[in-house]
Order: sequence, then structure tokens, then C-alpha cells
Amino acid sequence: MEERLQKIIARAGLASRRAAEELILKGRVRVNGRIATELGQKAEIGRDNIEVDGKRLLPEQSAYIVLHKPREVVSTVHDPEGRQTVAELVRDIGVRLYPVGRLDYATSGVLLMTNDGEFAHALLHPRAGVPKTYVAKLRGVMSDEDLAIWRKGIDLEDGKTLPAEARILRHEEERTWIELTIREGRNQQVRRMGEATGWPVLRLARTEFVGISSEGLRPGQWRFLTTDELLDLR
Ligand code: URA
Repeated sequence: MEERLQKIIARAGLASRRAAEELILKGRVRVNGRIATELGQKAEIGRDNIEVDGKRLLPEQSAYIVLHKPREVVSTVHDPEGRQTVAELVRDIGVRLYPVGRLDYATSGVLLMTNDGEFAHALLHPRAGVPKTYVAKLRGVMSDEDLAIWRKGIDLEDGKTLPAEARILRHEEERTWIELTIREGRNQQVRRMGEATGWPVLRLARTEFVGISSEGLRPGQWRFLTTDELLDLR
């Protein structure tokens, strides 16, 4: 894909967009051997030989991983409150990865991370309807009939939830464990479904996201997606 030179240079981490424009205007950038002079000039990293001060820019490797996010970690790359972030858990990859969507601070489980923005965007688009499976511990003893309204849809302040799959896993004293698969990604959706129906969520873990699970990973551990998993998603 062709892009403006300053964008390519900025993405390669060499300079801010503004500083990249300066490099171009100062004649320090060449495309296929020719000094670039126009700010609007487009090129394609990988196809064109783009050099800054004679050094070739290499395309950044795309990386795709699944992290088993622990509880009490934020799903951002920086936290103004200084809490631990998911980015800190996947440091030694050599590229900066961003979470595909979010899990609450108190939620654990499957979180995909990548530096491929288009891939992330496609998965998060509401029309993609990507399935997300959660195991939740609810306060109270719930019957299958009670759970039927979770399957049908619950009125929340941002509209009724779409039909979902839900089943009771087990009861434990005054608690009920359920498994729930939803195809929406609204903010705090599962917790809000619990609040709205009088079955507050006490624990929440995501066990699958678009068919990818964190099986075999302890909280805080991650692995690269396999080629088969990636091919299935593209
Ligand atoms: N729903 C929630 O309420 N929290 C999450 O982290 C994910 C889904």
C-alpha cells in the first residue's frame, strides 16, 4: 500500500510526522535513489528503496500474539495511574504491540495483541460479530430459566443486547458459574448485563476470542498465534 513518505518514516519510529517532513525538506530522504523533495510524495515500504541519510528503512514485522491477561492489569500501553499494563507483560518482542480491544482491569483471560492496525480494526468492527466467550461467577443461585433472558437479550442503557449463548456450569453455595458467548464488544457488557438483571458479576474471565483460547498459558504468559490461527482469521 502506498503512503506518504512522512507517514512511513514516522511509523518506522525514526521521527515524528513533523520531524519526518523536515528530513524530506532538507533533502535527507531518497526514494529509489532519488532525493524526495515533495511532502505529498508517496511510496511503499518494502517495494521502494526508501533511505534516510543513506540508511534503508525496513518494513516492520507484523506480530500477533495471545496474552493471558491477569487480573489487575490495564489493557492499555500506558497508564496515567502507574498501574501495570499489558504492554509491560510482552516487552521482549522488539516491536510495540497494542491490545485488540479491552478487558476490564478486574477481568482476566484472552487478549490478542498486534501491531497490525488493519487486522485489529477488522476484528473489532461491530459488523464482524466476533464471538467472545466468558466464564463468569455471579452472586446468587440462578436457574436455567433465569439465564434465558441473558440468551434473549437484556435492555441496557445503550440498547438491547443481541441474542447470546449461555449455560450454567455449576452452583457453589450462593454463587452461580456460567459460560456466555456474545458477539458484541460493548464497554463492560457482561458486568452491566449482571447488574441489570440482579446477578452481579463477581469474577470474569474471557476464555476465547474469535476461537482463540489461552489454554496452557498461565496469567501473564503469552504465545505467538500459530500460522493456522492466523490463516483462519484473515
Ligand atoms: N465484559 C465486561 O463486563 N468486562 C470485560 O472485561 C469484558 C466483557
